[in-house]
Amino acid sequence: MPLQIALISDQHLESCPSQWRQFKTIAELFNDTTANVVILSLAQNTTEQALTQLRQDRRYQFSLIYTLKPQANPLPLADGPLPADSAIIEENHAKLMQRLSSFNRGRHPERLEECVMAWLWTRPGAKISAQRDSKLANVYFYPLIRVFANNESVNEQLWLRLLAEQGLLASTDLVDRIRLCASCNSSRLNYVDVCPQCKELDIAKEPALHCFTCGHVAPQESFLKDGLMMCPNCLTRLRHIGSDYDRPLENQSCRACRTSFIDAEVLVRCLDCDHAQSPDELRVREIRNYTMTEKARLRCRQGLTEDISREYFGRLNLIGLNDFTYLLDWQLQQARRYSNFPECSLIALQFYGLENALMTPEGQAALDNLVERIKEMIRDTDRCSRVREDQLWFLLPHTDYAGAKILGQRLADLLLLLEHDDNGVSAKVAVFTLPGGLLDEENAVLLMGRLASEVG
Ligand SMILES: [Zn+2]
Ligand SMILES: [Zn+2]
Ligand SMILES: [Zn+2]
Repeated sequence: MPLQIALISDQHLESCPSQWRQFKTIAELFNDTTANVVILSLAQNTTEQALTQLRQDRRYQFSLIYTLKPQANPLPLADGPLPADSAIIEENHAKLMQRLSSFNRGRHPERLEECVMAWLWTRPGAKISAQRDSKLANVYFYPLIRVFANNESVNEQLWLRLLAEQGLLASTDLVDRIRLCASCNSSRLNYVDVCPQCKELDIAKEPALHCFTCGHVAPQESFLKDGLMMCPNCLTRLRHIGSDYDRPLENQSCRACRTSFIDAEVLVRCLDCDHAQSPDELRVREIRNYTMTEKARLRCRQGLTEDISREYFGRLNLIGLNDFTYLLDWQLQQARRYSNFPECSLIALQFYGLENALMTPEGQAALDNLVERIKEMIRDTDRCSRVREDQLWFLLPHTDYAGAKILGQRLADLLLLLEHDDNGVSAKVAVFTLPGGLLDEENAVLLMGRLASEVG
């Protein structure tokens, strides 16, 4: 069967080959047919939008998508400009389908990890590249992760670090080095000069003199006495600039405390959370592009699904979120129905700044250690799941509030393992025990939402 090629163009294209089908928008294409290859001829901003729409649709996640003309800015979600020869398109498409069918023993990629790996697997040499968006608090994002995360919030830096830790991704080029607020990780920062004494913002330059005899520096008017120039400190008469006195390069004074000083202090104020800090307190983050490693290629061929989730928190025998909410719903039903239902508890554990811990080998070892300790703490009958990489859930049958509270406290204590050198790692724990405190009509998802907002 010949390739189905769709052209998306906001203007009708006379030169369009007769075997292509033309559409004005992505929505038109979605409603009409499924093409094998899509060609975009749109303005730059609508092109990016169209690519996101296409990649989020299961039919076009991995399809070849070309732009009709070369683009000024690279488009990480596209496959470049349209090849001149249609035979090349056919060949590329055949290669892609072949690689996709050999991915992960033929299983269609579902989870974020699998989708990103399948993307890299089907496009040898492709990268997970960072893109700048000045509207974001941390400026850089990864279009590929964002598009496959499908509106779920993913901590991209943490996700990349975890996969790099597992040896599945390797960082390639350094794109940028950014500085972030130590309190909220925002890079929207304002550097201000302040008085070194009282940290007041209201400072101004003023003409000053410097006495060579005693080294005194003060505002010019304090050197004037009865029309003569005289040092107010050592009372030497100053006659010649250059031999008796000079003007310091820059002298400033504080309007609040009247101190004079040469160098103002620099404070960094976060425009998002108002936290004020010195420049060396800022968190430094390197933004890098990533590629898949040889180890990842091997796993893509041999089967990836189980292996990937076995690292770090994966070792906690995590069950899928759907299974977890199903089990919780079942507990809720029983708690409502039977008055003698044994108490059962739910714990939410939310980490903050885990990506900072993973920046050092000590931090990685500490996280390993932490996972082992959590494993020892939970029983065979307990169930554990995670919503995101940094949010863990525990369902503990036959556990009353006091017992769950102790476990929660022990989990919180364990987190101290991760904290060092002010790396900003912290965590919050929320505990809930059935049957008390359950709201009418509250199901597993709503209950988990309530607890998540306690730790969020
Ligand atoms: Zn901040
Ligand atoms: Zn001051
Ligand atoms: Zn003097």
